[in-house]
Amino acid sequence: MRIAVAMLIAFGAIAGCTDDAPAGTDGGTATTDADPSIDARVGGDVDSRPGCAAVPTADPTWLTSYQQDIVAKLSGQTAIRPGVYLSDRATVSNRNEARTFLQNQLTALGYTARLQSYAGGANPYAILEASSPSSSNIIIGAHFDSVPGGPGANDNATGVAAVLAVARYLQSVDCRQSNVYFVLFDEEEVGLVGSFEFAKWLSQQSINVVSVHTIDQMGWDSDGDRAIELERPDGNLYVQYVQTKSAAGLTMPLYQTGTGATDHVSFRPFGFAAIGLTEEYVNGDTTPYYHTSNDTYDTVNFAYLRSTTVLANAHFARLARMSAAAFGPPATPRAWPPSEAGHAMVRALGCRAAYAPARQ
Ligand SMILES: [Zn+2]
Repeated sequence: MRIAVAMLIAFGAIAGCTDDAPAGTDGGTATTDADPSIDARVGGDVDSRPGCAAVPTADPTWLTSYQQDIVAKLSGQTAIRPGVYLSDRATVSNRNEARTFLQNQLTALGYTARLQSYAGGANPYAILEASSPSSSNIIIGAHFDSVPGGPGANDNATGVAAVLAVARYLQSVDCRQSNVYFVLFDEEEVGLVGSFEFAKWLSQQSINVVSVHTIDQMGWDSDGDRAIELERPDGNLYVQYVQTKSAAGLTMPLYQTGTGATDHVSFRPFGFAAIGLTEEYVNGDTTPYYHTSNDTYDTVNFAYLRSTTVLANAHFARLARMSAAAFGPPATPRAWPPSEAGHAMVRALGCRAAYAPARQ
């Protein structure tokens, strides 16, 4: 995320954020199990379709080591290429290094690595086509840049590692009825620039976007509850995650918040329904090393990142297999308050109260 929040963190502390589920959220079942056995069946509506293979486990054995390697290389823990260690992903040269690495990762997964360029930056992306031609498109993305002098392991190498893991996993799911775009956004930290340019480009191409999902900061979980905050969900996007969680037998609490300081904000002005995923940012269980030189590999909770990625894998398997009719009516982006103001309001009102829509 991009804003300076020392003041807002103080607000959260004063408000005494708690872990109980407020009205309007799916409370889930909190767990303090340090290494839960995740039952990652997708099940239900997509797992037993005639002519389709069973959806493979959303918790593949390669998951943690794959994500550790990505976060290590992006955050300078290990060399991103021989002899090159990134101190941040803010300078032009370091962003170029990171971008090349990400394109190579997509290529290694078997994708055509694409680049959506704009004045000043470029967003690497890849498309997993539907199993038969489809005009339905789902977007999942995370920003790859960091603040100057910050290795950005949590913010946001973790989100990148989640998106790449979904890109790897989803290839093993057949009978996909939508195309899925995997995007790594440039220049989030200077004002959501890359995601805005990508949203504008999607709009200019008249690409039919069903929903946009962005992930930012997914590596801190000091209370061990594996909870995820779902930011500004349009339409039924929150309910869809709750349904996937249930179908997959997962137990992490899912909370809705009004947080708007990251990439999902870029898409609504173009008419795209969006949702953001993050650690418990509003709820106060978030990295204390935010936007500092201490946002390092060693501080990332990879078990938590894995837990969230399992939900994301299950969710995108499910979304990709859903028919257009099963998505329900197109979600209409809501009119949200300006990003920073909305974020401050959530904090000031005591953690999560600013946005608690009726269940749908
Ligand atoms: Zn971020």
